[in-house]
Amino acid sequence: MTAFQNEPLADFSDSSQRTRFASTLEQVRRECGWKAPCVIGGQPVVTGRWLPSVNPAHPSHIVGQAALARSEEVDRAIACALRAQARWARTPVETRAELLQSAAARLRQQRAWFAALAVLEVGKPWREADADVVEAIDFLDYYRAGALELAQGKAVIQQPGESNRYGYVPRGVCAVIAPWNFPVGILAGMASSALAAGNVVIVKPAEQSPILASFFVRLLHEAGVPEDVLQYLPGLGEETGRALVEDPRVALVMFTGSKAVGLSILRTVGNPSAAQRFVKHAVVEMGGKNAIVVDEDADLDEAIHGVLISAFGYQGQKCSAASRLIVHAALYDRLVERLIPAVAGLRVCDPIEPRCDLGPLIDADAKTRVTTAVAEAAASSTCLYRSPPERLPAEGFFCGPALCAEVDPRSPLAQEELFGPVVCLFRVRSFSEGLALANDTAYGLTGGVYSRSPSHLKEAIDSFQVGNLYLNRPITGSLVGRQPFGGAKLSGLGTKAGGPDYLLQLVVPKTICENTTRHGIPLE
Ligand code: NAD
Repeated sequence: MTAFQNEPLADFSDSSQRTRFASTLEQVRRECGWKAPCVIGGQPVVTGRWLPSVNPAHPSHIVGQAALARSEEVDRAIACALRAQARWARTPVETRAELLQSAAARLRQQRAWFAALAVLEVGKPWREADADVVEAIDFLDYYRAGALELAQGKAVIQQPGESNRYGYVPRGVCAVIAPWNFPVGILAGMASSALAAGNVVIVKPAEQSPILASFFVRLLHEAGVPEDVLQYLPGLGEETGRALVEDPRVALVMFTGSKAVGLSILRTVGNPSAAQRFVKHAVVEMGGKNAIVVDEDADLDEAIHGVLISAFGYQGQKCSAASRLIVHAALYDRLVERLIPAVAGLRVCDPIEPRCDLGPLIDADAKTRVTTAVAEAAASSTCLYRSPPERLPAEGFFCGPALCAEVDPRSPLAQEELFGPVVCLFRVRSFSEGLALANDTAYGLTGGVYSRSPSHLKEAIDSFQVGNLYLNRPITGSLVGRQPFGGAKLSGLGTKAGGPDYLLQLVVPKTICENTTRHGIPLE
């Protein structure tokens, strides 16, 4: 088996790649209209209730419909998973690793198809859609290699007369509760890591992206992951998600999503029910209110480029996105003067078009939330830029980028995650004041600094309270194995997806001590 290497991203500046992807998009657009039932033990299960998944650029275009799992399906899926658990845990790690390798190979072949579906189901521009699928390939491959390493156990002290071993056993039934904003990458990361470590998995996708999830689960089954080891259970978070988290047979909850839901999961997990035979474990990754601090000596070209990518990539709907821009007073006016036209030049359109910089927001609620916040900001602070409505497509959940200045640092706009293309600007008198302001939120996911001063970069390394700190580069786009990803403070538990410690969350260490002195020959 080969060592892990990141999969290269597509190069859409190459016209042949552009032409091929455009034709895949057209093909997938024609195929839309799928039905995705629950899949329990490999069998499709229809529940009588369907949830439509729509194209956010054309909400009348139904990408597909997913079944809404009820408590019966939750119960059946967990029972099925439980029956497979011991067998999967005993399956040699090499076999599990081979299955993930085969899944990665299949996803490489179907990469453009999945990326095209991401454009249509969640409104990702081409590059973002490709990167999402590439991340999934990387996760499959990274955790495949990680599981083989984990299975070696760790060395412990040996003494004459005893043999000591230290290894890891899987936790059991794992509920993977995924967000819509990386509908392939994050879902693949959580599911493949849990499977690689020997857990049986129930996938509960987000309401907005169940079709991509259903095809990913199918791909894993086709790659050889046994049907009873992996179940697909689309449904509402408040129903299906909650039922999985509360069920006493689920040992491990892997969740990526909002702070409110993540904290509620931690509360549930912290209160074992009387029927529970173990302490549940939760891997919880949540939101961010990420800041970029621009120092007085920063390279403005680099800083503006980095802000555009970090704040407006995928319409600001990345947990890592920059939503606060903290600028030294010496540079503030010059930066603003250049940032406004740069933002105004971003193209907001249907992401099916290769020229798209910003596509639609994910759904009508997101559009209402973001437009209301921008309108309120315009009334109470200085709105430096907001997209004129006539520049937005008439149909779809489009919102366009916005820049707000003189925002009250204690206001919800400055403190709470909005999850859209809105940036609050702040003027500070020193780099230290900028860092203090950057740290002044409950979140701690990503952060960035543009500075040419080695001492200021060192100050940021020492005191910027984030899980992922980026110096003189954009703060989004972490790569598996290179920038292990995950937040601090109320952004997460410190488990780093795509990092060397991640699999440790998904197993329980086991110590075995054997007396190796001879006690005579046993009688037959
Ligand atoms: P969300 O919290 O609304 O939903 C996430 C998942 O949880 C969905 O599958 C949903 O159905 C489910 N869910 C909802 N209520 C539930 C409940 N009571 N019990 C169990 N499950 C429930 O988040 P979202 O809108 O899908 O995703 C966006 C959020 O995810 C943002 O806050 C973003 O910052 C965060 N995010 C974080 C990371 C990270 O790595 N830290 C990565 C991506 C997204």
